[in-house]
Amino acid sequence: MKILKSFVAGRWHEATADLVPLINPSTEETIAQASSTGVDFAAVLLHARQQGAPALRELSFVQRGALLKAMSKVLRQNRDELLDLSRLNNGTTPSDGSFDIDGGGATLAYYAGLARGFEDGGLMTDGGDVPLNRSGGFWGRHVWVPRRGVAVHINAFNFPVWGFAEKAAAALLAGVPVITKPATSTALVAQRCVEIIIDAGVLPDGALQLICGSTGDLLEQLEPQDVVAFTGSAATAIKLRQGERLLAANCRFNVEADSLNAAVLGPDIEPNSRVFEMFLEDVTREMTQKAGQKCTAVRRILVPQRNLEEVREALADRLSSVVTGNPSEEAVRMGPLASAQQLEDALEGVVELHRDARMVVGNGQRVDGVGSPAGKGFFLQPTLFEASDPGGEGAFHHREVFAPVATLLTYDGSATVAANLMSLAGGTLVTSLYSDDQEWLAEFLEAGASDTGRIYIGSESTVGEGPGSGAAMPQTLHGGPGRAGGGEELGSLIGAQLYMQRVALQGDQALLGRLTEGRQLEK
Ligand code: NAP
Repeated sequence: MKILKSFVAGRWHEATADLVPLINPSTEETIAQASSTGVDFAAVLLHARQQGAPALRELSFVQRGALLKAMSKVLRQNRDELLDLSRLNNGTTPSDGSFDIDGGGATLAYYAGLARGFEDGGLMTDGGDVPLNRSGGFWGRHVWVPRRGVAVHINAFNFPVWGFAEKAAAALLAGVPVITKPATSTALVAQRCVEIIIDAGVLPDGALQLICGSTGDLLEQLEPQDVVAFTGSAATAIKLRQGERLLAANCRFNVEADSLNAAVLGPDIEPNSRVFEMFLEDVTREMTQKAGQKCTAVRRILVPQRNLEEVREALADRLSSVVTGNPSEEAVRMGPLASAQQLEDALEGVVELHRDARMVVGNGQRVDGVGSPAGKGFFLQPTLFEASDPGGEGAFHHREVFAPVATLLTYDGSATVAANLMSLAGGTLVTSLYSDDQEWLAEFLEAGASDTGRIYIGSESTVGEGPGSGAAMPQTLHGGPGRAGGGEELGSLIGAQLYMQRVALQGDQALLGRLTEGRQLEK
């Protein structure tokens, strides 16, 4: 049986105790085991601080961008193998696997390209100079400098490649070494990614370490300049956030957590119009891609009362025709949930939603998947609920069912009412709006924009243009307020700034100019 090794302090470590099985979710066969028992976490941190950090800071911003480009290239070269591993361990169809793997490579490549904009050197300034006295003889200016700590990345099970790559891209570009920890249940793909990158020798020693299994006492040894970037459930985030060491050292802690994202059909969109069709297509994809195991998946579908019937029928048609099964079968469009735990949690969630909504599509049970042995595999059909009372008490505003499950809710067509319903989830990653009515959109923004991290607008001119609300693009912010974690990842330099410190410089304006211009960002 393959045991996933951690890459720590410059060597591969294979644990012999506390091994956790990794399961093929389509067949329930054990495919590997993982554990971090025996890893010396003090040595891991020391290695990052003494080897990785200075080696990265020695390089220019542009040179670090070249590292990201090389990482992206080797991952692309091994794409087919990674897709296979993703199918085996995550139960992904080729298209779902590509969303993760190609998305990870593209994010690395984007940050590599961003670095080229810093060819002239110079400290990264933030805003212009501001006079600090009346005579104009004393000025202020803000600059960003790399933090002198390590980046600890804790990732969720659903994006083993993209989750690793998007965090690593931002940290490495900023000049901060990475210790990455994939979710244990689906660590196969992330482990292989790191192995490919290490074997290719594209990174300096200590720039990237990998923990397969638990983080042991790593988080108890963090220092004030360290950064923890966590993606996962709100429950784990709350636990980690209260960690004594994290609080005492006041490490930066970025959280990407749960989200009950809403898709809202505007009242101006006529049935059978191009935007209406786009709305249906987007909702179907955002419910079923990766079997709904996306933090950005649509969980609540808001439609004007008068459109309820058409939307219900059209979605029921589309969702019922999704072939669920073993992704090795060509006809299969949606794979299983990633683990027995995910299936159990989803089935519990379906029961909770059912208390406040009627089931329109699905049966709320585990089903057999096409091409999988009878009784095996963690399959759940696309499941659509319809709320009788869309108000605040409904579980659909509070319970994230991490599966192909969503609830239809009606509203009266008013943008403010729709925004207030969206806001009942207490903070989301993304909200998609389908409308060409600028006034309606502006009213929605006024009432609800601060409760969501991203607003994706589908309109007549964007039919066939947008990637879908589920795609977190590196150019724009990923993260959301409140329950979504309050974090900020990606968004061009916003992503790298998580690993940097903003410093206010005050003094003679010409001197500040000389100190900050024409110098390498990181020296
Ligand atoms: P999870 O159970 O919270 O686990 C997330 C990560 O935390 C895993 O790597 C897990 O490791 C680790 N972990 C758990 N307890 C820990 C502890 N005490 N100390 C250190 N690490 C610990 O979440 P999940 O089930 O993997 O992911 C699903 C959730 O992630 C969903 O709620 C989804 O909305 C959210 N998500 C959010 C985003 C986003 O960008 N906002 C993206 C993807 C997913 P082990 O696997 O070893 O337990």
